Amino acid sequence: MVSISFYGGVGEVGGNKIFVKDGDTTVSLDFGMQMGKVNSIWSEFQQPRKHSLLMDLFEFDLLPPLPGLYRKDYTEHMQWKEDWKNPDALDAVILSHAHVDHCDYIAYLRPSIPVYCSPESKLIMEGFDAMSSTEYLTSKESFKTYENTKGGLSYTHKSQKNQVKIQRELQMIENHKKFKIGPMEFEPIHIDHSLPGTYGFLIYTSAGTIAYTADIRFHGSHPEWSRDFVKTAAARGVDLMLCEGTRLKKEDGKKRLAETESQVRQLVTERIDACSNLTVCGYPPRDLDRFMSFYSAVKDSDRKLAIDIRQAYTLKLFSEDPHCRGMYPGIDDDHIDIFIPKKSSGIIGREDEFDYPLMLQDYGTWARDIVQLSNAVNYSSMAGQHSSYALYLSDYTLSNLIDIRPGPGSTYIRSLTEPFNEEMASDHKKVKRWLVHFGLIKPHKKEVGRWNPIHVSGHGDHAQITDMVQQISPKRLIPIHTEYSHLFEEIHDSVEQVPLGQTFEW
Ligand SMILES: [Zn+2]
Repeated sequence: MVSISFYGGVGEVGGNKIFVKDGDTTVSLDFGMQMGKVNSIWSEFQQPRKHSLLMDLFEFDLLPPLPGLYRKDYTEHMQWKEDWKNPDALDAVILSHAHVDHCDYIAYLRPSIPVYCSPESKLIMEGFDAMSSTEYLTSKESFKTYENTKGGLSYTHKSQKNQVKIQRELQMIENHKKFKIGPMEFEPIHIDHSLPGTYGFLIYTSAGTIAYTADIRFHGSHPEWSRDFVKTAAARGVDLMLCEGTRLKKEDGKKRLAETESQVRQLVTERIDACSNLTVCGYPPRDLDRFMSFYSAVKDSDRKLAIDIRQAYTLKLFSEDPHCRGMYPGIDDDHIDIFIPKKSSGIIGREDEFDYPLMLQDYGTWARDIVQLSNAVNYSSMAGQHSSYALYLSDYTLSNLIDIRPGPGSTYIRSLTEPFNEEMASDHKKVKRWLVHFGLIKPHKKEVGRWNPIHVSGHGDHAQITDMVQQISPKRLIPIHTEYSHLFEEIHDSVEQVPLGQTFEW
């Protein structure tokens, strides 16, 4: 018998944690964070407490309180009823892609639970671990005490050097290369989404074939990948489809500037061409297809794209990896410069007054090689050359504009999603205020300023999802990753609605 338990990813967008059990073998399809629910409970000033992290997340059903899943250092410190001798409750996590709503809570799983993922997902998680405090692939033992220099006891976070690093077990997947876990066989199929290395899966179980769509679209840079998923699934015959429906709500009729990634590329090129001074741009930092759209636009306009250190680090990881080398331009490319912002002491750009090694100390160890590259630029070295640049700035790095001082004729290209809740709308107002202040967008009576975004979503719309379901024609369908589960009943006649925390027995 096969059973499927939904600990996230039903009745909401993302947070997929879908346990598929066949006989004695259980795998989780993704192990992500339920972003919507997390943001509805926690805030910037009230975060889950690290010392009680699992309990805090159990409290609001954000993690399943099951034995045999979580890290020993966390369960022991929290005195959670867990017999460490319990065998692992999961035989594997099958990761579709490395967006946080699919991968984030992997950090709290026992490192002995292997994660099957694409080389691209591995690099993205590796980048997160190096540049932030996440512990997706490498974890340090938390809450352990060590003797300090004065003979007393300290927690590891006070004596980082002594910490033991634990490596998570990873298995690399390849397009159409099947692999077995217990009685289940998995066929990963590369699909198109707004993140490199996203895979859907066909899962051959003892009860029949499951199609797991992950997050899928048909209007990105590689619609042929997603079409291959549909064609293969239809050819194999699908008994049960776990189908995403993020954008299943019928369109609101709002006119968008672009419908496909190639239109994004074309429009961005036109906007950069028409700009006589500095072009500032904002796009999703890890959507490397979108990065490629901007890269190709600056090449056509004979400018340079000044990316940030984080994107440079990600591209560096890709160009150093044997599987991913050559997919994207390297950071030494003629059309790429790296913008180094002012950090703690703020002395970058004042090399004549301060010691170079002192300036380097402003940056994390992961960033220092990049800061020293010959194509690393800053506000001072860019002065007088604004018209040869498109400069990437995120919504959180706009204070650099105070140093850069864009002149008349400068513009801003917004290539990010529009707000879908009040909090985002209020954040966007702030961003617009900055851009109006620096003359990058025009003020507007009703919306502070107007930026006419050039963006396409990572998810298929109503027509694309309907078409996919019709072509695959599964016997049964369970809606996932959507707030519009009920709308699936209009496009399929055997829809099973499974509430959060419930199990579908098959
Ligand atoms: Zn997602």
